[in-house]
Amino acid sequence: MNTFTRPRLTINLTALKRNYKALCAKRPSATTAAIGKANAYGLGMAPVATALYEADCRTFFTAYTFEAIDLRRLFPDHGVEIYVFNGPAEGEEDSYRANNLIPVLNTPAQIAMWQNSDLPCVLHLDTGMNRLGLATKEAMALLDDSATLSKLDVKYLLSHFACSSDPDADKNHTQYKEFCDLTKQVASLFPSAKTSISSSGGLFLPKELDENLTRPGVALYGISPQGSPLNALEPVASLEAPVVQTRTIEQDETVGYGATYTATAKRKIATISIGYADGYMRSLSNKGFVMIRGEKFPVVGIVSMDLITVDVTEASTEIQTGDVAECFGTNILIEDLAKVANTIPYELLVGLGNRVERIYKD
Ligand SMILES: *Cc1c(COP(=O)(O)O)cnc(C)c1O
Repeated sequence: MNTFTRPRLTINLTALKRNYKALCAKRPSATTAAIGKANAYGLGMAPVATALYEADCRTFFTAYTFEAIDLRRLFPDHGVEIYVFNGPAEGEEDSYRANNLIPVLNTPAQIAMWQNSDLPCVLHLDTGMNRLGLATKEAMALLDDSATLSKLDVKYLLSHFACSSDPDADKNHTQYKEFCDLTKQVASLFPSAKTSISSSGGLFLPKELDENLTRPGVALYGISPQGSPLNALEPVASLEAPVVQTRTIEQDETVGYGATYTATAKRKIATISIGYADGYMRSLSNKGFVMIRGEKFPVVGIVSMDLITVDVTEASTEIQTGDVAECFGTNILIEDLAKVANTIPYELLVGLGNRVERIYKD
């Protein structure tokens, strides 16, 4: 009996650990945190965080408080620091205390709330992303408010690059300079506060940045933050799905919903058990590709909810039910598939559905 009947994502935990070490080596004087938000980019928070812990990672970030609480359950008492990007909502202070979590404070309202607590925090200074964090004006106003400042126990001053996926972008310099200026100004107010600006992209900028903590996410998971090539990172996740049927169609026959593909000659079609419900994006219709038995074949027709169809006419050996199709992994790079899908690897990875079985390999 063939047990490979649904899509599976194989996560190579050894490659993950090597990537973590490689990222540590890029900024040896800094602490390297790991970003575990969105279920560790879809790969599964618990096994991923456990592997990273084994690679000596002791600092994690999540987006939400509830994600941080889940993570804390894994490391109740292991010297692991857990930070929450979005910071606390009203009434969550007890939860931060009970779970030993540290919030990133992004708004004057969050700061006003936190000044009455004795718990540590991170201050997010927005240096040009204009998304989350204190605008420069708000940061300046805070600097003049010594009553509030004196009540905050600031562990880190944090900022985030808008364009670090492009090593040549001028905005990287502007933001870095703004961050250095701001952190210098507050240095006397928070003598023990450290700094953090780089996510994955920042670690691959040509200029070495001066900071105490880096925050890579996607690079850990083997994805180049700057599109292609892999920058010496190893692919971590590999998505495969089984061939469930093959058929031969004649000239002028069509394939799939909307009959968007018409055979110009006799073709052999393989149907594969993965679809947009699994995160194989519909934008890959008539554009995607898979690898079966070491050869690459195009997706023909529309991606449906549970299935895709590929043209295997040119296969050098006969493709059969039960064959394994690689959608991305070590042969088909997720960067290349994302480009064809008109998106970025992040979206492909976090979009993988619950139906995709996760398999962890050491
Ligand atoms: C998600 C996130 C990161 C990690 O980004 P990658 O590009 O995946 O490395 C770092 N910092 C902040 C503020 C984030 O939101």
